[in-house]
Amino acid sequence: MVPFGVLRASASSRTPTEMQKTTPPQPEKTRRIGVFGGTFDPPHIGHVLTGQRVAEARRLDLVLMVVANDPWQKSGSRYITPAALRLRMVEQACYWSRQPKTVLKSSSVEISSGGPSYTADTLRTLAEESEDATFEVIVGSDAAAQLDTWHDADWLAQNAQFVAVQRGGQEASPSPGFRVAGVDLPLLEVSSTEIRHRVASGLTIDHLCPSPVVACIEAYDLYRTSAQQQLDDGAPS
Ligand code: ATP
Ligand code: MG
Repeated sequence: MVPFGVLRASASSRTPTEMQKTTPPQPEKTRRIGVFGGTFDPPHIGHVLTGQRVAEARRLDLVLMVVANDPWQKSGSRYITPAALRLRMVEQACYWSRQPKTVLKSSSVEISSGGPSYTADTLRTLAEESEDATFEVIVGSDAAAQLDTWHDADWLAQNAQFVAVQRGGQEASPSPGFRVAGVDLPLLEVSSTEIRHRVASGLTIDHLCPSPVVACIEAYDLYRTSAQQQLDDGAPS
């Protein structure tokens, strides 16, 4: 029988190389996950198409549609639909898009965290939750041009891989200093701002949003009242 004291002594006298051998192996990065964040007020076919096509182009296993809890760069300038309702619409958009393969999945990670939504925090949380994954942050060209205004921009510049897709309007270049890959997609000139305005004007939004999202907008009577519209400056952002 080996005395306890001897066992302890031999464990603490191991060389650094021997210690390394006993360190648990790091999980292999086998999954590629897209992180597509937004206010999604409401989600529309531009979001769905972007998520699906970027997944194909970048060989992503999954795209998380991350619903902002408090989109701090927008709140204050317009009325924002409660996060739980925006999440419900994104869940429906993802389910609607599931054929032939489920690629888009809604994520409530920022809603669970509460407070203002920062992509840097979200990436750190997701990396802890899924150690087997690498992440790419999907943005439209309008968002890509403003990465330097994002919270924790230095950390993002050092650590995050972005994928940018062109949106209509003026050609915009990504903020310098960030890792940004481009993906060419057919331009779908649709925005949530346009949808909110169309609803307020009594115009149809069929085909601009997945049908269950249209049904949700009708059921909750979203975007119709002047209270919901009065803060909206009308400029797509
Ligand atoms: P809003 O008009 O209220 O700003 P939005 O249509 O821009 O809404 P957001 O929720 O602000 O939608 O955008 C989330 C992300 O989706 C952003 O990175 C944005 O650039 C991107 N995005 C939105 N619409 C499109 C589109 N039609 N094509 C490509 N990317 C888009
Ligand atoms: Mg926008």
